[in-house]
Amino acid sequence: MNEMYDLIVIGAGPAGLAAALAAHKAGLERILLIERDREPGGILNQCIHNGFGLHYFKEELTGPEYAGKFIHMLEGTGIELMTDTMVLEITADKTITAVSKTYGLQILKAHSIVLSMGCRERTRGAIAIPGSRPAGIFTAGTAQRYVNMEGYMVGRRVLILGSGDIGLIMARRMTLEGAKVLACVEVMPYSGGLKRNIVQCLEDFNIPLYLSHTITEIRGKKRVEQAVVSQVDENRQPIPGTEMIFDCDTILLSVGLIPENELTRKAGIEMDPRTGGAMVYENMETSIPGIFACGNAVHVHDLVDFVTAESQLAGTAAAQKDNAASHTVTLKNGSGVTYTVPQRIRPERVEKNVGVFFRVNRSCEKSAVIVRRDGEIAARYPKPYLAPGEMERVSLPKTLLEGANTIEISIEEAQG
Ligand SMILES: Cc1cc2nc3c(=O)[nH]c(=O)nc-3n(C[C@H](O)[C@H](O)[C@H](O)COP(=O)(O)OP(=O)(O)OC[C@H]3O[C@@H](n4cnc5c(N)ncnc54)[C@H](O)[C@@H]3O)c2cc1C
Repeated sequence: MNEMYDLIVIGAGPAGLAAALAAHKAGLERILLIERDREPGGILNQCIHNGFGLHYFKEELTGPEYAGKFIHMLEGTGIELMTDTMVLEITADKTITAVSKTYGLQILKAHSIVLSMGCRERTRGAIAIPGSRPAGIFTAGTAQRYVNMEGYMVGRRVLILGSGDIGLIMARRMTLEGAKVLACVEVMPYSGGLKRNIVQCLEDFNIPLYLSHTITEIRGKKRVEQAVVSQVDENRQPIPGTEMIFDCDTILLSVGLIPENELTRKAGIEMDPRTGGAMVYENMETSIPGIFACGNAVHVHDLVDFVTAESQLAGTAAAQKDNAASHTVTLKNGSGVTYTVPQRIRPERVEKNVGVFFRVNRSCEKSAVIVRRDGEIAARYPKPYLAPGEMERVSLPKTLLEGANTIEISIEEAQG
């Protein structure tokens, strides 16, 4: 098979669904969505808790409900959906190699591609926890899939390492399923999750959160029996004498997400080491014209509503014939900022404003977001509270971007 499509979207999570629908709305006809799982919806299918859609639909939905609304919107559009199909390779000339049980190996061609492969979880190997190698250690997302989709209870006495949102949500989920969640342990002095999840998933269930602590040893022969937790110093080194022993049969790891980008790298697309995703322009186009990226494959989002908005940009732009421009502004992350997305802006391609997402590298109160245009302060936005776990956004007007070479976003902390 060697079929030609206007657009091929890789990954049918919320990002891929929104991009495909936006491209259809913008006039593209032959659109193919490829998904390796057995159904579309991505990670939302296993997120049966509510809290999705507050921004986009102005109502509180569960993950499957949020995904379901977009899946319904596919009806009547003619967008083709190929599930159980894994994309193995894409090339700069937009040739896609995919494999499936039904169709075997396929070579497909497209005028444009949207990369929306989501992200994957860091595992025990990635963070090298010392101790034996018993059963009972899961990433929080894997446990979530087992409990919520496959009907398998992963354990009874649970310790959670890492306070990212998935870990927090699983602390509550395991409690509701009858397990005893002993504690959530976080190596940093602040949580990596949303404030609302700390309150609703830990505090409401009296689950202690140990900040500046980590697991220093896992004990157990066949199954986890004990975990040793120690306090860490400012260099994240365990402090001798602070050890606490937890008798547990399960450890859930919520220690970070990595944008899924093997295909992106192999195609020769420029990457941003700060996000782990592709470098993108204002409309989510990557360094290869006609290849776009969106959602968690670009940077890890905490709210799916922002994934949707960003992916609609990508899909709409994928329907344009040409996105080139004569002038590019480079975005820089200044003091206190970890990264920005997009990383580059072409003012000619901006209608009125560009939304720039960023994360801060420490918690701060009563601070301000400072926007510098070629080194001069151009805007200042007071912020009562900023935290690394919460993605921030500023809107830059076209007039601020025109003629500029660099825009820097930084944080100014209140003195004293
Ligand atoms: C556990 C958890 C809890 C969350 N809780 C909330 C919440 O309460 N509220 C909220 O707003 N947001 C929440 N989020 C965030 C939100 O769900 C994500 O930001 C969103 O799902 C990301 O969408 P995506 O399409 O980029 O990625 P995904 O949903 O991960 O979709 C990517 C898709 O690409 C497919 N894929 C990957 N590689 C290939 C390939 N090579 N070939 C074919 N298909 C491929 C995958 O199978 C997957 O279906 C949560 C996220 C997680 C992980």
